[in-house]
Amino acid sequence: MSRPRLMIPGPIEFTDEVMAEMSKPTPSHVDPAFIEIFGQALEDLRSAFLAGPDYQPFILAGSGTLAMDCAVTNLVEPGDRALVVDTGYFSQRMADIVRRYGGDVTLLSAAPGETITPEQLRAALAENAYDLVTITHVDTSTGVLTDVRGLTAAAKEHDALVIVDGVCAAAAEEMRQAEWGVDVYLTASQKAIGTPPGLGLLVASPRALAKWRGRSAPVGSYYSDWGYWLPIMQAYEARKPSYFGTPAVNLVMALAVSLRQILDEGMENVFVRHVLLSNAVKAGVEALGMSQVPTDMAHAAHTLTCPRYPEGVDASFLKMVRANGAILAGGLHPAIKGEYFRIGHMGAASRADVLTALGAVEAGLRAAGYPVEPGVALAAAQAVLS
Ligand code: PMP
Repeated sequence: MSRPRLMIPGPIEFTDEVMAEMSKPTPSHVDPAFIEIFGQALEDLRSAFLAGPDYQPFILAGSGTLAMDCAVTNLVEPGDRALVVDTGYFSQRMADIVRRYGGDVTLLSAAPGETITPEQLRAALAENAYDLVTITHVDTSTGVLTDVRGLTAAAKEHDALVIVDGVCAAAAEEMRQAEWGVDVYLTASQKAIGTPPGLGLLVASPRALAKWRGRSAPVGSYYSDWGYWLPIMQAYEARKPSYFGTPAVNLVMALAVSLRQILDEGMENVFVRHVLLSNAVKAGVEALGMSQVPTDMAHAAHTLTCPRYPEGVDASFLKMVRANGAILAGGLHPAIKGEYFRIGHMGAASRADVLTALGAVEAGLRAAGYPVEPGVALAAAQAVLS
């Protein structure tokens, strides 16, 4: 295969079995065979998030931003106080969405590359009362991983609902939704969950559904209102036909296949594989003498790596990386955009993908005039992988 591997932090490379679903004839959204697939996908989404049987999955046509919008519009009423744990660009998007639906937002901001600890969150929650805490599991703009378990525990001590943006984390980073008590965990199809772009995915806790049921203000968005979608999701899971808005039929078929592949691997194995691949990439990057945006590897994501350009190298080097076999992404966080690039390694990513990416980075650096001993990053990665 001559095309370069797509190793940005989403969309990712999808498996052949997933792509085959995309090219099948589109069935009716109420075809019994499709109802079975949709029902199974809902059950499997709940399993992939390690959510409880009383947690409610939603599969909607839209991107990750729609999933964020959907969580917020259903759970925020005008005047609700929200504390946004801010670890980068996507945390700030969540803040914007909460404001759009009338929420009163306070940001608890980390400098780019830093994280927010449960102790910092506890201190903020002790100062003021909040109805809601939002957390970005992995902020794709900084590669920072938050301690969702610890942060959620802190929020619950103060009885706040917890929405976690897992767009760049779900089905890769450890997540035990029921055990940790996360009220909404949400993601998009095109990242670790391994399906082409176009689906927003959420799983809501019984507490989240109770808060929604107890609203006094109507839900601000028509399309995202759980009042329309809850009966549809319940019907598909009960293997009954129903309709509100036409589902993205082929994407749901593809999602069902990718969820099956993930669950067949097993969530514990999926979490461990992502740590291993990430450690290999980070070892390679370090061997090349590059530092990374996260200030401590203890809070670095396992779904992507954010190396800082070495002296004399800039974003133009990504073209040379591409010519050598891997498509990588430039920086995204406005404050440091020109200083770093991003390597995605999530979903069906393999050892071979990681070695391809590092080989392409080595070759790209040499082409950009940065002295690199051939194979140095590959050797460091191989040492981790073996
Ligand atoms: N949150 C995070 C953490 C993301 O990485 C992204 C996409 N990169 C989004 C939200 C938004 O998702 P989408 O682009 O699918 O709307």
